[in-house]
Amino acid sequence: MHTYTLARLAQGLAQKEFSSSELTRHFLQRIATHDPQLNSLISVTVDLALQQATEADQQRQHPTASSPQPLLGIPLLHKDIFCTQGVRTSCASKMLDNFIAPYDAHVVQQLRSAGMVMLGKTNMDEFAMGSSNETSYYGPAHNPWDLQRVPGGSSGGSAAAVAARLAPAATGTDTGGSIRQPAALCGLTGLKPTYGRISRWGMVAFASSLDQAGPMTQTAADAALLLQAMAGHDPKDSTSVNEPVPDYSATLNAPLKGLRLGLPKEFFNDSLDASMSQLLEAALQELESLGAQRVEISLPHIDLSVPAYYVIAPAEASSNLSRFDGVRYGYRCAHPNDLYDLYVRSRSEGFGTEVKRRIMIGTYALSSGYFDAYYRKAQQLRRLIQQDFMQAMQHCDLIFAPTTPSTAFPLNDKKQDPVAMYLSDVYTIGVNLAGLPGINVPCGFLNGLPVGMQLVGTYWSEALLLNVAHRYQQNTAWHQAIPSLFC
Ligand code: GLN
Repeated sequence: MHTYTLARLAQGLAQKEFSSSELTRHFLQRIATHDPQLNSLISVTVDLALQQATEADQQRQHPTASSPQPLLGIPLLHKDIFCTQGVRTSCASKMLDNFIAPYDAHVVQQLRSAGMVMLGKTNMDEFAMGSSNETSYYGPAHNPWDLQRVPGGSSGGSAAAVAARLAPAATGTDTGGSIRQPAALCGLTGLKPTYGRISRWGMVAFASSLDQAGPMTQTAADAALLLQAMAGHDPKDSTSVNEPVPDYSATLNAPLKGLRLGLPKEFFNDSLDASMSQLLEAALQELESLGAQRVEISLPHIDLSVPAYYVIAPAEASSNLSRFDGVRYGYRCAHPNDLYDLYVRSRSEGFGTEVKRRIMIGTYALSSGYFDAYYRKAQQLRRLIQQDFMQAMQHCDLIFAPTTPSTAFPLNDKKQDPVAMYLSDVYTIGVNLAGLPGINVPCGFLNGLPVGMQLVGTYWSEALLLNVAHRYQQNTAWHQAIPSLFC
């Protein structure tokens, strides 16, 4: 059962091949057996999962007149950045190690009302800052394809768990690549929707103008099912957009004839790894055989996206993380001498190194005297990058790009070198700065490690992204491969 897609599980539940309780026990058993090797989970919610599964089974026996619920009784994992009522929501930080959320995030509510069963909360980089899961207070998650390597980050636990089939799907969040990059390094389909498509309410804020939740699944068809439940307007998030949610599954099989794929010339040059480039070329030829055609495009300012991001994201983080002061919730230092001591020691002891680095960079960039030189400049670059994408989109329907510069790297490889780590997201970060949707689709292996391609669309083009990814997956088997330790 653990190899089944969401679509296949839905069918099995509908035909009473198995119950939600059986399914849930099966995945909980897999977690108990395999997670010690992976460290992909921070919390396993056994009792809650079994209770939600029982409710789903009862609901299936007494169906109400309301619309069909394809996800009813299917288990999933949530990234530990989403608030979950009565369950620890740590954001992989010592700061929130003792934090029990008093309410569910909008995404959690939506998937719960679709009938899904929460198995637990996944490991991640602390406050979603990182590309390898190594900044987690709970230690790194491991890549199921090679346990000595990183699963990517920041949604590394979600990626590792789904790739090892400890859950059929998971949620992630993507501020600069944190869904697409770990999906690429673990061989999954990972979608970062248009900014504003999914409510950020109850999702611990890192960089509010960039953060976006999305699904991490085996297939594009599954991503369509999850996105359907996650997307939609939420008045509680002022940046959630009131844009109709199309039926994402309905258009998965639309023909690709005439689809123009734009290849940014800034990505396809000598700096792209040669074997990576060969796999991407093969994927392109496959898409061409399905009716797509390639066009060259240019994103002239894209090389400025990493520097612009590493001013804007820390600036927003420094403001968002000021709420963790040891007073209202989260970590509080022992025996503070006075209020100042309480602030300083609670924050010094509660945050890890990377989070502190970002707070310092962000505070500096926002301080008077430097604001114009750094923050304002970075915002101007952001606008130029967004305009580049809009210009390019006049010549193509989707952009075709690598997702990552390399396959999964060894643990500790980049841990001491923040700039090397930041460069893991060169192909994904610009998409967040522009607020556009992007998807990672598995397209091959190098030395036994997964490689992904990235498709980027214009605003609200999730249906087209899923359609192209699905057609590709109907004709290839990369997304079906399972790491041999976890078959
Ligand atoms: N790796 C990037 C960072 O550390 C992106 C993280 C993310 O998307 N959450 O900021």
